[in-house]
Amino acid sequence: MSAVRPALPLDARIPEGPIEKKWERAKFELKLVNPANKRKVRVVVVGSGLAGASASASLAELGYDVDCLCFQDSPRRAHSIAAQGGINAAKNYQNDGDSVYRLFYDTVKGGDFRAREANVYRLAEVSANIIDQCVAQGVPFAREYGGTLANRSFGGAQVSRTFYARGQTGQQLLLGAYQALARQVDAGKVRMWPRTEMLDLVVEDGRAVGIVARDLVTGELRRFAGHAVVLATGGYANVFYLSTNAKGSNATAIWRAHKRGALFGNPCFTQIHPTCIPVSGEYQSKLTLMSESLRNDGRIWVPRSKGDSRRAAEIPEGERDYYLERRYPTFGNLVPRDIASRAAKAVCDEGRGVGPGGLGVYLDFADAIRRLGRAKIEERYGNLFEMYERITGEDPYAAPMRIYPAVHYTMGGLWVDYHLMSTIPGLFVLGEANFSDHGANRLGASALMQGLADGYFVLPATIGHYLAGLMSGGATRLDPESAAFGDVERGVRERVERLLSIRGKRTVDTFHRELGRLLWEKCGMRRTAAGLGEALDEIPRLRERFWSDVNVLGGGDGLNQSLEKAGRVADFLELGDLLCRDALHREESCGGHFREEHRTAEGEALRDDEGFRYVAAWEWAGDGEEPRLHKEALEFESVHLAQRSYK
Ligand SMILES: Cc1cc2nc3c(=O)[nH]c(=O)nc-3n(C[C@H](O)[C@H](O)[C@H](O)COP(=O)(O)OP(=O)(O)OC[C@H]3O[C@@H](n4cnc5c(N)ncnc54)[C@H](O)[C@@H]3O)c2cc1C
Repeated sequence: MSAVRPALPLDARIPEGPIEKKWERAKFELKLVNPANKRKVRVVVVGSGLAGASASASLAELGYDVDCLCFQDSPRRAHSIAAQGGINAAKNYQNDGDSVYRLFYDTVKGGDFRAREANVYRLAEVSANIIDQCVAQGVPFAREYGGTLANRSFGGAQVSRTFYARGQTGQQLLLGAYQALARQVDAGKVRMWPRTEMLDLVVEDGRAVGIVARDLVTGELRRFAGHAVVLATGGYANVFYLSTNAKGSNATAIWRAHKRGALFGNPCFTQIHPTCIPVSGEYQSKLTLMSESLRNDGRIWVPRSKGDSRRAAEIPEGERDYYLERRYPTFGNLVPRDIASRAAKAVCDEGRGVGPGGLGVYLDFADAIRRLGRAKIEERYGNLFEMYERITGEDPYAAPMRIYPAVHYTMGGLWVDYHLMSTIPGLFVLGEANFSDHGANRLGASALMQGLADGYFVLPATIGHYLAGLMSGGATRLDPESAAFGDVERGVRERVERLLSIRGKRTVDTFHRELGRLLWEKCGMRRTAAGLGEALDEIPRLRERFWSDVNVLGGGDGLNQSLEKAGRVADFLELGDLLCRDALHREESCGGHFREEHRTAEGEALRDDEGFRYVAAWEWAGDGEEPRLHKEALEFESVHLAQRSYK
């Protein structure tokens, strides 16, 4: 198997100079590709969610030739469309004290000081351009009466900097990016390949030269050769089986690239979102997010006494515990997600949870409705309230919503340097698929910002530097008939055939559900060394059972969703192992990674900056081998390292 060993020590290629000048300086120093040469360059972009669509459109607009793939039937169905609440930007339209520096600071602090400063600063800097770009595309952001763009607040910030389009922000942003993409498809600069799934990366002479993909309708394997490959394939929260992600979201593209030499950064940093509809049954396959924006006006509470089974309306004010407002008076219901999630779990563990099984807390709008009127609340959150009622059969205008934390987002992903290039030269990774700018905990409304920053502004500048070097070195030939492509295609075919040949007794889903439950229990909201050790014993056994007893029905030469799922679950079964290994090695608590053994006297996450102020970047060492750990030390020059406090 051809794979690349990483160049060590890891070089994040952070530009010199003061933090506020780094991006400007980088843009000046990055090499350019002249317009005539751009026409000779082909880039393969895998993914057409916000990150992939914005990147493909921008690269084509610059003059590059682009092949863009997605596994859905249209780019408009990418998981990005589900994003509800909003997108952050340091515009300071509210004149409430926001600035690029404050957004940068909030993001680094919110991520519990486990993100790379230079990247986060650039993200905050570029955030304002994103809003301009999207407004120019016609994205219908909410507006004030006078016509200016409206904002609301999200967790982890004391300013209002979140731009939104009702509860459909992702959908509207994606339609904007899709229009830009469609324009380039029409111009012949982007070839769009829907229902086409990347199944492996091709590496030749130490760099990424293309991919092998499967046409999900005909089963045909296809080779895509490119001067560079961009993965914008989203997050891997579905490794937990139950999550708020779209059912199709998966890790296959990044996992296969990992096995070809791309290091995996902080795999255990997963986000558990506090405001989701509680699990309602054993056979549920999906969880639903109630947007964090609801925490602007909703108040979170549980009964003061254990086992209080009265209806919410029957519990008098004095017998309610608004526990976030009590414990964190400064941020109240707007504390970051990791903190709000753990606090919800804690009150439920004490026996004060509400609803079936006691796994729920109230999100109550009664005060807001009294203060603002029902019409205003309907205007702000109408579609979310309707969604809640349709799923639970309860009217949230009349009784509080019940919510509970659920797996939602993955901060971990493929390690990338400042140029968004992985440890495989020529392989770039964008959006949720990279280990990104969010450290150990992402703040609400920052994922859309990052995906679009990567696609519209960062990659279009940095990829040229790599391509210019490639061209000046004369390495411009594309050869999909090469031996490297042949080997990779053979490997893909054999794997498909192997999955189809097992014909065991269990469905793919039963394995996925078992893995998910194990990860949720041992590597979820709270983790211990003992639990993680147990998971690391159990996962290889589960993997073995999968490869000997899974039943994938049908054949390989047509549409076969069971086969698609089987390939993705096989990858999750390997990734699950890495998640636990990473969580076990990180002997500290930070952000979404909470190790029971490491907490403050008040029960909050206790970091160990001496021992763990680094990005853990894991190298695949082969089947059955222990992965190798590499470290990127994190330097904090602009932000003072401190114990996070939202009190
Ligand atoms: C319910 C929900 C609500 C959210 N709300 C917000 C919010 O309000 N604000 C915010 O900032 N963030 C929000 N997020 C997070 C945010 O939506 C995501 O992080 C973001 O949309 C990811 O964008 P992406 O482009 O990286 O990936 P995606 O949108 O997941 O796109 C991935 C693309 O890759 C393609 N793909 C994947 N694998 C392959 C393969 N092997 N071969 C071919 N194609 C492949 C897919 O087809 C798709 O086109 C929310 C998340 C959820 C789950």
